[in-house]
Amino acid sequence: MTVERGTIRLESLVKSYGRVTALDGVDLEVRAGELVTLVGPSGSGKSTILRLIAGLEQPDSGRVLLDGRDVSRIPPQRRAVAMVFQDYALYPHLTVRGNLMFGLRVRRVPRAEAERRARAAAERLGIADLLDRYPDQMSGGQRQRVALARALLREPSVYLLDEPMASLDAPLRFATRAELVALHRELGTTTIYVTHDQTEAMTLGDRVVVLDNGRVRQVGPPQEVYDRPADTFVARFLGNPPMNLVPGGGVLGGDAGVTIGVRPEDLALDEDGPVEATVEVVEHLGSEALLRTRCDDGTPLIVRAGPRPAVRPGDRVRLRADPQRLHRFDAESGRRR
Ligand code: ADP
Repeated sequence: MTVERGTIRLESLVKSYGRVTALDGVDLEVRAGELVTLVGPSGSGKSTILRLIAGLEQPDSGRVLLDGRDVSRIPPQRRAVAMVFQDYALYPHLTVRGNLMFGLRVRRVPRAEAERRARAAAERLGIADLLDRYPDQMSGGQRQRVALARALLREPSVYLLDEPMASLDAPLRFATRAELVALHRELGTTTIYVTHDQTEAMTLGDRVVVLDNGRVRQVGPPQEVYDRPADTFVARFLGNPPMNLVPGGGVLGGDAGVTIGVRPEDLALDEDGPVEATVEVVEHLGSEALLRTRCDDGTPLIVRAGPRPAVRPGDRVRLRADPQRLHRFDAESGRRR
């Protein structure tokens, strides 16, 4: 059986640190060339998964397969992976050129060839003019590019990126995200990208893996996971503001055994709407407004309205939920029905 370079397969990975269970049976398959994002709250096990793939740690049980080969017992330097962390881990006493050439020289690439490759990687990431600088003479964004360029030079079959943009400011993240997508398209190298930021996870990933408490909650293309969350955890984790969930269905209709969910954008102000509520807060976000309302039975509902809505706190309003966009979950297990 031939397996394409760049496939990853995780089988029943379990990992504990003392009494803390970091991974509680994780299965995942990543196809060659995919960009998969791992997203979940802090402590859900995202970094642990990357460290196990990289070989920086061993699982208590389960297996890691790279390119179809069990690498569970193979040391990190012999796995064809390159990992980029949020702290760039550059050598402070080396220039950018030195940092980029270091790994090549360790692998006995001749100096002239190493220089040529370092420059090419630097040009690709737009940092060729920084080759003679030291890490402390650069901004966070520039250092991040150096770290990415260094990862490029390893020509791995898999990239593992652990919150690589966490220390960048919002505009730079936005720009870097687009570049990363373009770079991935160009290289076609399998990439796993860890983030706690759901926007980043949704915009970058071919598929999104949602983790909670050391378990995979759902895997799928971003829009699919958003439109059909597998459970109430995923429903609330992806989406900002989160999905409204009404136990028992209440004002949204339903019955005792279910929780009914509706996203804020699927609720509209409608004079003839069946749900009566009072507006408590209006948040103007410029391109839209969020209305925090409370129904007469006490149920809070957040409504995403257009910009400049004609309502104020204290106003009585009527709401209508898009019937095509109601989500039904089991009241007890939280699983989608
Ligand atoms: P995430 O990346 O999603 O924030 P981690 O994979 O870093 O989560 O951690 C998962 C869980 O394992 C957390 O509860 C964390 O505290 C614990 N953990 C991770 N690494 C260690 C460690 N070296 N020693 C003890 N506990 C750890």
